[in-house]
Amino acid sequence: MIPDVDNDSIAYLNGEFVRLADARISVLDRGFIFGDGIYEVVPVYNGKPFRMEGHLARLARSLAAIGIQADMTPAQWEALVADLIARAGKGDCMVYLQITRGVAKREHAFPNNVAPTIFAMVTPFKRPGAELREKGMSAVAIPDIRWLHCEIKSVSLLGNVLAKQHAVDAGVDEVLQFREGFLTEGSSCNIWIAKDGKLLAPPRSNLILEGIRYGLLEELTTAAGIAFEARPIARSEVDIADEIILTSASKEILPITHFEGKPVGPGVPGPVYTTLRAAYDRAIDAL
Ligand code: PMP
Repeated sequence: MIPDVDNDSIAYLNGEFVRLADARISVLDRGFIFGDGIYEVVPVYNGKPFRMEGHLARLARSLAAIGIQADMTPAQWEALVADLIARAGKGDCMVYLQITRGVAKREHAFPNNVAPTIFAMVTPFKRPGAELREKGMSAVAIPDIRWLHCEIKSVSLLGNVLAKQHAVDAGVDEVLQFREGFLTEGSSCNIWIAKDGKLLAPPRSNLILEGIRYGLLEELTTAAGIAFEARPIARSEVDIADEIILTSASKEILPITHFEGKPVGPGVPGPVYTTLRAAYDRAIDAL
């Protein structure tokens, strides 16, 4: 029994479907020993994956970036996700996929002829409710101490774990990370600001993970006639932003209405957020 976990939920490990609590890997798995692996999290609404192509494209990029050959075509990944969803039953859920370099003697360099470990599980997904949507979240600033390949969705998440714990210890919901005075992202979300009706985001680079919602928000802003610019955002601009917005698979799109203990703009969700929120909900409804 693993406390607070749906032990009976369905998992996939190296070709077999098992109860989550029964899934077993070796302690020599390089994911455990070195954090040598990558992952994906696909949100599923009413049994339908949202922005699946984007998630699979990012999965392929992450695998290629660290030289893991998983021997799975996009169609096979899609079939695996569909199979898990079918076994889990309809409704909203998250499909978590993790691929590590596999099990080998503990030596840093890549092992030869080792099959990667392929793991997937389905976890419950409770969509952010009215309270968060209407009141918004709180955040504080921290220095971004992570490595310089944040574009890879690596399971080496210690920097992100410490960032999120900083938020918990500070009694706030999220952190905004800054590297050399410029905004990067949250602990596990992308961050956007609105100023004078325009939406701004840090550019795609090795300093942030490009969320699947990054491209989605670009599409939604264009469709809504909201100006958008991707460019470095200084801390001083965040301090005087009209709105701060976060996006992630599990948080969808939410307003940050308090930053560093002060209200952002008037301290309530703003018009850019409200417009994009409605567009996001419509994109889910259209699935
Ligand atoms: N940045 C980081 C560091 C993340 O972990 C995530 C994923 N939770 C995101 C951004 C947002 O990505 P997505 O929209 O694909 O969930």
